[in-house]
Amino acid sequence: MAETLSSQQVVDITKQHNFGTWRRGKQWNPLHVVSGDGCWFTDANGKRYLDFSAQLMCVNLGYNNQAVIQSIQQQAAELAYIQPSYTTTARAELSQLLLEVLPKGLTKFFFCTSGTDANEAAFKVARMYTGKTKIIGRYRSYHGSTASSIGATGDARRWPSEPRSKLPGVVFSPEVNCYKCPLKHSYPECGIACADYLEYMIQNEGDVAAVLAETVVGTNGVLIPPPGYYQKLRRICDENNVLLIADEVMAGWGRTGKWFAIDHWGVQPDILTTAKGITSAYVPLGLMAVSEKISAFFEDNLFAHGHTYEAHPLTLGPAIATIREMQRLNLVERAVEVGAYLGEKLQALKAKHKSIGDVRGLGLFWAVELVKDQAKKTPFNVWQEKLDGKTLVVDQIAGKMIASGIFLQAWMNHFVIAPPLIVSKEEIDFALTALDEHLAIADQLV
Ligand code: PLP
Repeated sequence: MAETLSSQQVVDITKQHNFGTWRRGKQWNPLHVVSGDGCWFTDANGKRYLDFSAQLMCVNLGYNNQAVIQSIQQQAAELAYIQPSYTTTARAELSQLLLEVLPKGLTKFFFCTSGTDANEAAFKVARMYTGKTKIIGRYRSYHGSTASSIGATGDARRWPSEPRSKLPGVVFSPEVNCYKCPLKHSYPECGIACADYLEYMIQNEGDVAAVLAETVVGTNGVLIPPPGYYQKLRRICDENNVLLIADEVMAGWGRTGKWFAIDHWGVQPDILTTAKGITSAYVPLGLMAVSEKISAFFEDNLFAHGHTYEAHPLTLGPAIATIREMQRLNLVERAVEVGAYLGEKLQALKAKHKSIGDVRGLGLFWAVELVKDQAKKTPFNVWQEKLDGKTLVVDQIAGKMIASGIFLQAWMNHFVIAPPLIVSKEEIDFALTALDEHLAIADQLV
C-alpha cells in the first residue's frame, strides 16, 4: 500500500474500486473531505464548506462533537462487540432514554444499522402482527434501498429496481401535498380528502396491514400535512384495523422543532422507524419502536427477525451521548427559534425570485421549490431526466453553491435546507446570500 496518497490518488482509487452512490461511475467526482468542525467541513485542499443540509439531513449535532466522540472511544475500549442475544449497559440505558423522548406508548425497540433496516423490520412486524399483507405507501416518498424498502418507496428511485424488487403487496397513495395537490384540491375546503382517499383505498384493497408515512416527507421536498391530517389518519387506521407506521428516519430528532415530527399532531403511531439523527450520523444506528400492543403480541409469538450487528455496542453509547447533547444544548427548542429566522429569510427570497414556487418548512427543515412558471407551478425537470443523469437546474445551482463554500442538498426541483441544529444566524445569512446570487441561474430560465 502506498505510504501517502495524494488527494488525486484518493479520488481516483475510490472511483476505480467503489460504486458511486446512486450515480453512474463516469458522473461521480467525489470530494475528498478530511475534517469537520461545528457546521463546517474541510476538503483535502484546505477549503472549508458550510454544511447547509447536515449532509444527508443527519449530522444534526454538527462535526467534532466531543461528547459523542468520547462515547465511541469509551465503548470501543470497553467492549466493541457482543452478540445481540446478550446485553450491555448502554442498551438498557438507551432504552430508558428513548422512553423519555419518543412519542408516548412506544415501548419496545429493535436496534439495527440504518433507516432501511428499520423499515424492513417494520414491514415484517406489521405483517406478523396483523396477519395481513398489504402496505399502503405514498408516491412522493423514500423508505430505503433494499428489496422491501425500495419496493415501498414511491418516488422514481424505485423504477430501476422494478419489477424484481417490487415488494409484493405494496400499493401507493397520492402524496399529501398542499402546494400542488395531486387530487387538485385546496385546504381547508378539501376536508382533507387525501385521508378520505386512503380510507377508500384501505377498504377496496382489502388485506391491508399498514399505512406507511414519512411523517414529514424529507428528500422529496419537506411536505408537511395540513392540520388535522394525522388525527384523521389515526382514526381511519383504528376504524379499519390497520397499523400506522411513521417513518421518522429524516424528520425525527429535533429536526422539525419537536423531538419527532409526529409530536406536532399529538398522534401515536403503532410503529416508528428512525436512524440518521439518533447518533447525529457519527455511527450507523437504526431503530424500530413499537407500541405496547405489538410488544405484547411478541411475548407469545416468535420475533422472526435479527442481525449480527443488531444492538451493536459501538452504536448505542453514541446514541445516548447524542440525546444528552441535544438536551444539554436545548437543540429542539433551538430548532424552533433559529428555524423561524431561517423561514423568514427564505420567504424574503421567495418574494424576490420569480423561479421560486414555494418555500415551506418546520423547525430547521425547509424546502425551496423552483418552478418555470409560478402561476402554473410548472417544474423545471421531470423524473426521467434525473434517472438519465442529466444535470438539473437545482444541480447547477448546488454546483455554484459548493464553489462558494456551501453544501446544499439539491433534489429534482427543490433544495432541502436542513443545517446542523447548532447553526448560527450568521451562518444562515452567509448561505442565503450565496443562494440569492446563484438563483439567477433559474430566474433566467423563467
Ligand atoms: N426513510 C427516510 C424517510 C429516509 O429519508 C431515508 C434515507 O434518506 C431512509 C428511510 C433510508 O435510510 P438509510 O439511508 O439510513 O438506509
